[in-house]
Amino acid sequence: MNNHYKFINTPLPYAYDAMEPYIDEKTMRLHHDRHLQTYIDNLNNTLSKYPQLQHWTLEELIINVPCLPKDIQTNIKNNSGGVFNHQFFFSNLSTPTSLQPIGILSESIKNEFGSYMSFKNQFKTAALSVFGSGYAWLVVNSTGQLCIITTQNQDTPLSLGLYPVLNIDVWEHAYYLKHYNLRADYIDDWFHVVNWNNANLNYMRCFNISF
Ligand code: MN
Repeated sequence: MNNHYKFINTPLPYAYDAMEPYIDEKTMRLHHDRHLQTYIDNLNNTLSKYPQLQHWTLEELIINVPCLPKDIQTNIKNNSGGVFNHQFFFSNLSTPTSLQPIGILSESIKNEFGSYMSFKNQFKTAALSVFGSGYAWLVVNSTGQLCIITTQNQDTPLSLGLYPVLNIDVWEHAYYLKHYNLRADYIDDWFHVVNWNNANLNYMRCFNISF
């Protein structure tokens, strides 16, 4: 992935069927090759008409939406958010090997939520509570505290001044082919393929940035 225009859709760092049986191959293929690709194409199309924005990184575009020309604010917000949220989601999946948080993140989850089980329950409740399309996130706030939040559509925690650690995409396209309308089952399955190693790295990165 370039960190600025022209953005490209880098291949997944694992096979499309790597999350079987929890997330099916067809869903992974469509999600990455079509849904994410569409956000990238739309973002590139818009930026192609604005050379002055072509050196901006994805994060700069997201955070500075209010400074952009009015007529492209919504377009850039939705599509840069769509690219960021999906890349983050895919980067935090792995074949089901480590089913528990690790490292300093594991300690902080216990401190903040009482236990991993308690965190899981709260995260699942949040993910179920998203009305329509959006995401549930584990984030670090400006005082360094772990929090669970939800966002609508392709909104991101970055524009709220929060540092993302982990996210789950609960748009129906993320699970409908396998789980139909049963979002709760999809969330349970997603917990089997969380890349806790990467989430821990994201967490440590938050501290480097914010403190
Ligand atoms: Mn999605």
